[in-house]
Amino acid sequence: MKYSKYFSTKTTPQSQPIPGSDQIPNSAGGYAWGVDDWKRLDRFLILGSEKGTYYISERKLTIDNARAALRCIEEDGIRAVDRIVELSNSGRAPKNDPALFALAMATGAKNEGTRKAALTALPRVARTGTHLFHFLEYAKAFRGWGRGMRNAIGAWYNEQELNKVTYQVVKYRQRDGWTHRDALRLAHPKPTSVGHNALYQWVCQGDIPGPEYEELALVGAFEAAQVTTEEKRIIQLIQDHNLTREMIPTNFLSKPKVWKALLEEMPLWAMIRNLGNMSKVGLLVGGNWDTIDRVTSRLTDEPRVRNSRVHPISILAALNTYSRGKGFRGSGTWEVVPQVVDALDAAFYLSFGNVQPTNLSVVLALDVSASMDWGCIAGCGGITPRVGSAAMALVTANVEPRHSFVGFSHELVGLKISPRQRLDDVCVYLDRIPMGGTDCALPILEATRRGVRVDLFVVYTDSETWAGNVHPKQALDEYRRKVNPHARSVVVGMVSNGFSIADPNDRGMLDVVGFDTATPNLISEFGLGFSGIRV
Ligand code: CA
Repeated sequence: MKYSKYFSTKTTPQSQPIPGSDQIPNSAGGYAWGVDDWKRLDRFLILGSEKGTYYISERKLTIDNARAALRCIEEDGIRAVDRIVELSNSGRAPKNDPALFALAMATGAKNEGTRKAALTALPRVARTGTHLFHFLEYAKAFRGWGRGMRNAIGAWYNEQELNKVTYQVVKYRQRDGWTHRDALRLAHPKPTSVGHNALYQWVCQGDIPGPEYEELALVGAFEAAQVTTEEKRIIQLIQDHNLTREMIPTNFLSKPKVWKALLEEMPLWAMIRNLGNMSKVGLLVGGNWDTIDRVTSRLTDEPRVRNSRVHPISILAALNTYSRGKGFRGSGTWEVVPQVVDALDAAFYLSFGNVQPTNLSVVLALDVSASMDWGCIAGCGGITPRVGSAAMALVTANVEPRHSFVGFSHELVGLKISPRQRLDDVCVYLDRIPMGGTDCALPILEATRRGVRVDLFVVYTDSETWAGNVHPKQALDEYRRKVNPHARSVVVGMVSNGFSIADPNDRGMLDVVGFDTATPNLISEFGLGFSGIRV
């Protein structure tokens, strides 16, 4: 009787848990480890749950993540609020919506200290008028308009410097069915200055402030822009008062000269988002070198890119859209300027800051199974977990001289990609790779079979692995026995589900969040910090 054929701690099919481990079923019929609630909170804050995953609907993924967030809030509300504030401010997350949602949840916590901390943190998480409206909409699900809420919203307006709050109020006037008039009427704050009072009067009654309120000059300029019919006048207002696109009547937004004036002071993230628009109106087109230079020099200006904290996924999304020469929603086409595409490619790498090389031998293993081709990371159009993984892996490949790429589904897939290639080309290439089932152990098994020395396996996956005869953790242990006892593995979680192929009890396995701007450095710190330590 070959008992060990049926039961082994060294070789367990992925459809069964490793005996003696605390693995749980994943969504694909396999077993993996559950991530703890705090890790899950990070995944949610960074990746969101928009569009769900291949296996989990948007609704269920959101509910699961919200429950994990709620458990964190109940376990240690202050820690949860601190984490929300930290991730929201660090620029590590592509979108602020999950942070606003989690903060709204914390403002409705059972614990009074938690509620207070969350309300106090509001201005640090809701940094724009749009953020505030999102928060107000989310908060409906968790609490009413008691005194704490009224005070917090009142403070959001009152405690900002007058010119800053004026800018927010003029620029972001409505969202989610909310206006500043609604918010101010409900909060009913006592104005902290005559200037604030004049601003609230304008918002609530439409009284245009007089010239004596210099810090409210933007309101007058905005009102003037709404009634003029002259392009010259609009351009003058933009030049004198830095009016933004949101403050201009839409009929002027088809004029190249208006866009040229807007471009002068346009923040980097707005410029990246409007490349298609500036092209369609005929401003950003071949031969128009003044404008092309302006755009490309900003995109390749390292301090500017870093200080703007534009998230790399926004740059990747812009690159994918712009280089196609047509909008995702089918609204018009444009001429693609190759210099702009190259500059976007460069900006992507700059936006991660300095990534520390380890000079270790690194295998970048990309899950190219069918599930990775579903949905989009943080709701960013066109950026599937599969495409997102490749872009993240290229950041590490760009600094690691001893890297190699491999793709895997239920079989190994050779990947011909290099950091010398442009990202949009890599994305197109990856889109064409045939899909299959999932066996996350394959890259490690192959390295064992060939006896190749690898220090670090970096696996980009959703951890929905099920097809293999052995778990990735067991494959890694085998590799350590046969080839390199110091080998380690990083699992880069590309969706906000609750699973990981990393064994939390193995110090040589690390779980990090995909499309977190901190991830490439976390990978190298793990590589450097643990090198030489026997695992
Ligand atoms: Ca899969």
